Amino acid sequence: MTTLVIHNPATGLQITQVSADDAASVAAKAQTARTAQPAWAATPLAQRMACVARFRAAVVVELEALAATMTAETGKPISMSRNELNGLLGRIDFFLAEAEASTATQTVFADGGMTEQIQHIPLGVVANISAWNYPWFVGCNVILPALLTGNAVLYKPSEFATLTGMTIARLLHEAGVPQDVLALCVGGGEVGAALQAQRIDGLFFTGSYATGAKIAQALGPRMVKLQLELGGKDPTYVCDDANPATAAASLADGAMYNTGQSCCSVERIYVHEKVFDAFVAAFVDTVHSFKVGDPMLDSTYIGAITRAAQLDVLDAQVADAVAKGAKLLTGGTRLPGNTFAPTVLVNVNHSMDLMREESFGPVIGIQKVASDTEAVALMNDTRYGLTAGVFTPNEARARAVLAQVNAGSVYWNCCDRVSPRLPWSGHGDSGVGLTLSTYGIQTFTRPKAWHLRQA
Ligand code: NAD
Repeated sequence: MTTLVIHNPATGLQITQVSADDAASVAAKAQTARTAQPAWAATPLAQRMACVARFRAAVVVELEALAATMTAETGKPISMSRNELNGLLGRIDFFLAEAEASTATQTVFADGGMTEQIQHIPLGVVANISAWNYPWFVGCNVILPALLTGNAVLYKPSEFATLTGMTIARLLHEAGVPQDVLALCVGGGEVGAALQAQRIDGLFFTGSYATGAKIAQALGPRMVKLQLELGGKDPTYVCDDANPATAAASLADGAMYNTGQSCCSVERIYVHEKVFDAFVAAFVDTVHSFKVGDPMLDSTYIGAITRAAQLDVLDAQVADAVAKGAKLLTGGTRLPGNTFAPTVLVNVNHSMDLMREESFGPVIGIQKVASDTEAVALMNDTRYGLTAGVFTPNEARARAVLAQVNAGSVYWNCCDRVSPRLPWSGHGDSGVGLTLSTYGIQTFTRPKAWHLRQA
C-alpha cells in the first residue's frame, strides 16, 4: 500500500493523507469480489433494494457533512454540493422504482410448444473508474444499478474526490452491501490501470477522452464490455426569434455552473445576428452577477478550478483566441484561490481551440451566425457529441435543428440538464454506452436467450 495526499484546491492546503492501493491489493480485491459475487446475485432483489434504500436514508442524514467534504476536496461551491446530493436522491428513487421491472424476465414468444424468453443476468464483476466533477452522480450512476442487478463492483474514485469515494463506499457497507461486493480501490491513474488489468466483466469509465482512449486500447482484445462517458464541446444556438435576455440568463448558468466543470456545460454559443448584441449584453450582465470566491460560502457561484493544471489550459485557450482576433469582454485572468475569472469572448471562430477543445472552466466563446443552416454546420463541426441545444419559441424549428445535430442529448429552451429517466450517452469522442434510464439499469446485465420446447 502507498499513501495518497488530499489537498483543498481552493487553499492549496493538505486536508489529509489516506492509504492507497497498489497493483497487489487491487488484484486481491478483484479476486475476493469474484468469489463474493454469486452469493450477492443470489440475494433476493428486495434485499439488495433495501441496502440501497438505507444508503439513501444515510445520505439524507449526513447531507451537510457530505457536501462539506465534497467542497473541501474539489472546490465545488457548497450550494452546488448540496444540489448534487439532493439530485442524487431522485436518481436513487428512479433506480429503486425501475430495477425490478426493467430486469424482469420477458416471454417474447409462446405458441404452446415453443417458448422464448429473455433473462437479464448480471455481468459479474464490474470496474468503475470515476471522475471528480460530480463524484456522487457519476459514481452512483454506475455503482447503484450495478449492485441492484447483482454485480460485484470494484470502484476507483478520482484521486481528486477520494474522500467522497471513501464515503460512498462506507455508507453502502453500513447499509448492508458486503465489503467484498463493493471494493474500494484508492489512488490515481496507476491504480485505474491496475484495475483495468484484472479479470473483469465490464468496465464503466467516466473521465477524459485521453484516458478513455487509453483504456479502450488496452481492453480491445479482451472482449470486456466497455462504457466510456467522456468530455464534450457542447453547443447551443440562439435563434432570431428567441428572447435574448431569457436565453442569456439560462446559458450563462449552463456555461458556468459548477465553475464550468461539467461534462455537459455549454461550451460554445451561436447566436443569430439579429439578436446577437442584445444577447451578449445580457450574457455579460449575468456573468458579472456571479460571485467568485471561497467555495465554502453559500453565496459563492464560481469556485476553485479542481486540477491546477487546467488553469494552464484556460490561459492558453484565451491567449490563442485573442491572438487570432477574439475580443475579450470580461475575465480572462486567474484570481486568488485557484480560481479563473468568468470569461466571455466574442469574434470567435473555429480556428480557435476555445471553440474546438473542451475548456472545462468558466470560459465561453459566443459566435455570430446568419442562419439555422450555418448554426447546424458549426454545431456539428466537432469531434464530440454529448449535448446540444436550441433557444426559440418555435418548437417545429427547434425540432428541425436538433434532428440534424449529432449529440446524445438535445435541449429545447434549456441546457446543462440530466434526467434519471433519460439515457445519458455521447456520440463520437464523447464516448460509447450509457447510464441512467431503464437502459442504464439493463446495461449492467447481459441478455440470456432461452429457447424452451415442451417435450
Ligand atoms: P481523467 O481522465 O483525468 O480521470 C478519470 C479517471 O481515470 C480518474 O479516476 C483517474 O484516476 C483515472 N485514470 C487516469 N489515468 C488512467 C489510466 N491510464 N488507466 C486507468 N484509469 C486512469 O478525467 P477527470 O479529470 O477525472 O474528469 C474530467 C473529464 O471527465 C472531462 O473531460 C469531463 O467532460 C468528463 N466527464 C464526462 C462525464 C459524462 O457523463 N460524459 C461526466 C463527468 C465528467
